[in-house]
Amino acid sequence: MVRPISGDLVLRNGRVIDPANGRDGVLDVRVSDGKIVAVDANLPAQPGDRSIDLAGLIVTPGIIDMHAHVAVSHIRSELSLHPLVNTLESGVTTVVDAGTCGWIDFPHFRHEVIDNPRVANRIRVFSYVNIVGSGMGGGGFGGEWEHEAAEMNSVLAANTATAHADVVVGIKTAHYWAKRHFDDAHPAWLAVDRALEAANLCDMPLMIDFFPNLPTQSYPDLILKKMRPGDIHTHVFAQQFPSVEEDGKVFPYMWEARERGVIFDLGHGAGSFWYRHAVPAIRDGFIPDSISTDLHTGNVAGVVIDMQTCMNKILNIGVPLPQVIEMSTVAPARELGRPDLGTLTVGGPADIAIFALDEGSFTFVDCERTTLTGNQRLRCEMTVYNGNVVYNPHGNGLVTWEEDAAEYPVPFHVRAQEF
Ligand SMILES: [Zn+2]
Repeated sequence: MVRPISGDLVLRNGRVIDPANGRDGVLDVRVSDGKIVAVDANLPAQPGDRSIDLAGLIVTPGIIDMHAHVAVSHIRSELSLHPLVNTLESGVTTVVDAGTCGWIDFPHFRHEVIDNPRVANRIRVFSYVNIVGSGMGGGGFGGEWEHEAAEMNSVLAANTATAHADVVVGIKTAHYWAKRHFDDAHPAWLAVDRALEAANLCDMPLMIDFFPNLPTQSYPDLILKKMRPGDIHTHVFAQQFPSVEEDGKVFPYMWEARERGVIFDLGHGAGSFWYRHAVPAIRDGFIPDSISTDLHTGNVAGVVIDMQTCMNKILNIGVPLPQVIEMSTVAPARELGRPDLGTLTVGGPADIAIFALDEGSFTFVDCERTTLTGNQRLRCEMTVYNGNVVYNPHGNGLVTWEEDAAEYPVPFHVRAQEF
């Protein structure tokens, strides 16, 4: 006997922040058959409703982490975490692998992880395809093979992306530092140029992780000359990109690149988020387009931890809460070319995050191991994916054990898995 689950899930009295639809107020959300079917004040009750009172909590679209490493099938690196690790507990309903696999390993990754029901029933996984066929090695300088021209096959990368276009969101290049020494076999822009070729062939965005190598390979040349509108520079506040001048003003080339349509993504990572860059840049008005973690085995226990920790850093630097939500929902959805996600639009998939906003004194650590203390902290209370509750540590909406025992004197042999 299994406790019956039926009827609509109705989330009542939460503060709904849904930037795509201009909503910010106390509203109810009705979910039926995995879809959002109504968002309004005081929705009428219907028979069988599973209603949860969320007064005092914040209801947002499911969070999208557009840079993480979840290709646990990839045997060449030890970067990846299982997609359920430190995602659901942060309101994440869509996690994007940022090119751990290249065109050699992608089909295996798809089979073993993306389409695996144990994953797919709980979270949506998308991916970039690495221009390097063997994908990423571990560590900041990657595997030796990430410098080899023969690995960078733009036709095969593009064909892989096209063949899996339902789950692939672009091409990735990273880790091409050529051991800090370019030569005939390792020309300066090789990886970026091959990746751009692939991205043009499959007509998808390119996500770039970059390390300037002067004088031949400069950051302004990358964002002003190489990147196309809609391409994404991840790790915007890494140590290797001084984004602010000595007077604390953002370099003019950053504004110019943004004007051209280049996207700037946070990509926190183990070494790519420095307060000494992020705080002056954000206070000068240069706010990244999207927040992402670059979550992997090397930073899951600190300093990244999860998406909500990254969001809390941006929030406590001074970006208003609705904008932090926008940067973690509708903005990444747009960058991924999936505008159906990152919203609470009626008719769309019921991917929903519910947060408490704690007030007090909270300290957050960056990649330089320096701290920033602020007075607000988002803390995920529930995650709903495709209409199913997949995270609910405090039992919002559940009955007490005494009520249960009174209603069902004979215990259920099998408990329902959700809610
Ligand atoms: Zn990464």
